[in-house]
Amino acid sequence: MSSPHLPDTSSWHAETHAQHTGMPPSQYGENAEALFLTSGYVQPSAEVAAARFAGEEEGYTYSRLGNPTVSSFEQRLAAMEGTQAAIATSTGMSSILLMCMGLLKSGDHVICSHSMFGSTIKLIGTEFAKFGVTTTFVSQTDVSQWAAAVQPTTKLLFAETPTNPLTDVCDIAALADIAHKAGAWLAVDNCFATPILQRPVEFGADIVTHSGTKYLDGQGRVMAGALCASEELVSEVFSPVIRSAGMTLSPFNAWVVLKGLETLGIRMRAQSGNALALAQWLQTQDAVDQVFFPGLDSHPQHELAMRQQGGLGGAVLSFSLKANNAQEGRAKAFATLNAMQLAKLCTNLGDTKTLVAHPASTSHGRLSDAQRANAGVGQSLIRVAVGLEHIPDLQNDIQRAMAIGCA
Ligand SMILES: *Cc1c(COP(=O)(O)O)cnc(C)c1O
Repeated sequence: MSSPHLPDTSSWHAETHAQHTGMPPSQYGENAEALFLTSGYVQPSAEVAAARFAGEEEGYTYSRLGNPTVSSFEQRLAAMEGTQAAIATSTGMSSILLMCMGLLKSGDHVICSHSMFGSTIKLIGTEFAKFGVTTTFVSQTDVSQWAAAVQPTTKLLFAETPTNPLTDVCDIAALADIAHKAGAWLAVDNCFATPILQRPVEFGADIVTHSGTKYLDGQGRVMAGALCASEELVSEVFSPVIRSAGMTLSPFNAWVVLKGLETLGIRMRAQSGNALALAQWLQTQDAVDQVFFPGLDSHPQHELAMRQQGGLGGAVLSFSLKANNAQEGRAKAFATLNAMQLAKLCTNLGDTKTLVAHPASTSHGRLSDAQRANAGVGQSLIRVAVGLEHIPDLQNDIQRAMAIGCA
C-alpha cells in the first residue's frame, strides 16, 4: 500500500528510478545523495556489533562489508535493471571475477561467445582454467552453437550484447532458454546497452554484469562494476565471496556513478543518435570498407537489436579501412588515429567525449591471432565510442584524419 509520504514505485521506469531510488532519509534532509567516506562504523554496543557481524541484525560494520553510499548505488542500479538486488564491485572485471567465484567450482563448464571483451576471455578462458573450470567459446550470433556446446557440467552461459568492438548482437531470450533447459545460469554483460536500452532480465537472463566505468559513470572519471541479480544470488552467493575477497567499490566511486545514473537516459539517447548519424556518414566515405553499428539497416542483427534495445543502436561503432593486407590496414589505422585531433585516442568508452581506439593492438592485443580472428578484429579496424560533440565537427575531424592516414 502506498502511504502519503512514500510513493508507489512499482510503475516507475528506469529514468525515474535513476533520479530517486536508493536515497535513505538522513537527519539533514539533504536533496543530493550523501557521500559517506568512512571505512568503519562506531557500534552502539558490543552486543549490537556481535549481532551485526553474525548477520542477525541490520547495520554497517566495515566498508568492505557494506557502505550507505555503495548501497544507494546498488539499489538504484537494481531498480533500473529490474532485478531484486545488485552488488557493487571495484571494476567491471571484478564483477565478472566475483560472479565466477560465486557460481563456479572445479569441474564446471562455461559457454561464452568468442567476441567477449578481451579481459573476459582471458579471465574465464585462462585464469579460471587454472582452477579446473573449462570454457567453450562459440559464435556470438549462431544460437545452435550455444545449444551444441552444452555439457552435463555446464553451469554458466555468458554473453555480451552488443559486443566490443564489432557490435554483434545475440538473442538473449534464445540463450536464456538454452541455459535454463541445461540447468545453468545466463549472465549478460550489459555494458554497451545499459538498462536504458536493454534490460536482459526481461528476456530471461539471471545475472547482469556491468562495468560502471563506462556509461554508468558517463564522464570517464572512476572505475566501478556491479552484478544485478535475484536477492537470493546476491545475498547468499555473491555477498559471502566479496566479504572475503574484497573487490569492493569505494564509496567515493559509488557516489560518482550514482550521480552518473541520473543522466544516463538522456546521455544514452543523445549519444545513440550521434552514433547513428556518424555511422550513416561513414558508410558514404571512400576510404571506409565496412561500418559495424546495430542501428544500421545493413547490420546483420539489425531487427533483433532494435527489438532488444528499445529501437536504439547504442553509442559504440566500429569501421574498417580499405586495405590490401593486414599490414597496410594497421598502418592506415595507426596513421588515421594519429591524425585525429578532436576524437581522442583513448581505450575507454562511455564518455561524453568521443574516444577512438585500435582494438587489435589494445583491448584485443593480448589475444592469440586465432582468438582475434575468431572475434573478427582486423588490423584496419577503428572503434569509435561516440560522445556528445556536434556531429559535423566530428565528421570534419575524421575526414581530415582519413585523408592523411589513407593517402
Ligand atoms: C570495459 C569493459 C569491461 C571491464 O570493465 P572495467 O571497469 O574496465 O574493469 C567488461 N565488459 C565490457 C563489455 C567492457 O567494455
